[in-house]
Amino acid sequence: KMNENNRLRLAMQKSGRLSDDSQDLLERCGLKVRFHSQRLLAVAENMPVEILRVRDDDIPGLVMDGVVDLGIIGENVLEETVLARRSQGEEPKFHMLKRFDFGGCRLSVAIPTDETWGGLESLNGRRIATSYPQLLKRCFDERGLTFKPCLLTGSVEVAPRAGLADAICDLVSTGATLEANGLKEVEVVYRSKACLIAKAEPFDNEKAALVERLLVRMQGVARARE
Ligand code: ATP
Ligand code: ZN
Repeated sequence: KMNENNRLRLAMQKSGRLSDDSQDLLERCGLKVRFHSQRLLAVAENMPVEILRVRDDDIPGLVMDGVVDLGIIGENVLEETVLARRSQGEEPKFHMLKRFDFGGCRLSVAIPTDETWGGLESLNGRRIATSYPQLLKRCFDERGLTFKPCLLTGSVEVAPRAGLADAICDLVSTGATLEANGLKEVEVVYRSKACLIAKAEPFDNEKAALVERLLVRMQGVARARE
């Protein structure tokens, strides 16, 4: 039978920009976990908690589908998944438990450096390369504008130079990658941080108490850092 033990299941990014901070957070919460690079699942030594390490894109869905109890995820990926599921006619359910102070970035529109910016209207009907079509569509919809998507999960910033798109909409933190690709940031579409979400289905008493304990520890960690 699936998940017979009553361990709390938490999903985090396996390797990428959120993984070190996520692991660090769990350690500061007092969880003792030894990760093995090839293993999907790691069980904490001192609490009934198991950590599932997957691609960040899978985390919102795993929580919404109730496959895992908790997930640490960027709001950008969470919100994109919410909008994608809604567009499929599903109302995704989950609880937002906490917003962290790591994983900060912005989803921005960028155009070739040598072009003058005439506002988002100047991109009306044009082709835009992105991994976040839903967040970009919401932004364009709000302004009564449209765009043609060029969907790429990686190398988005090379699309204009390759003649695949007129502009891009991608995650930015310093802007160095944009600059290296002859692009400039012209409009912020969404600001994101990492957050903790929980499945909608209520926890039994044991799990609820454990989640409460972890949340209290996370508050303590945040305060210690201030
Ligand atoms: P995965 O293999 O898990 O799919 P990925 O390549 O999609 O990884 P990363 O580049 O590791 O994802 O980014 C994960 C998350 O980190 C982003 O969705 C975002 O929330 C956050 N992040 C913070 N700063 C940045 C940045 N400068 N560029 C991209 N993402 C950032
Ligand atoms: Zn990803």
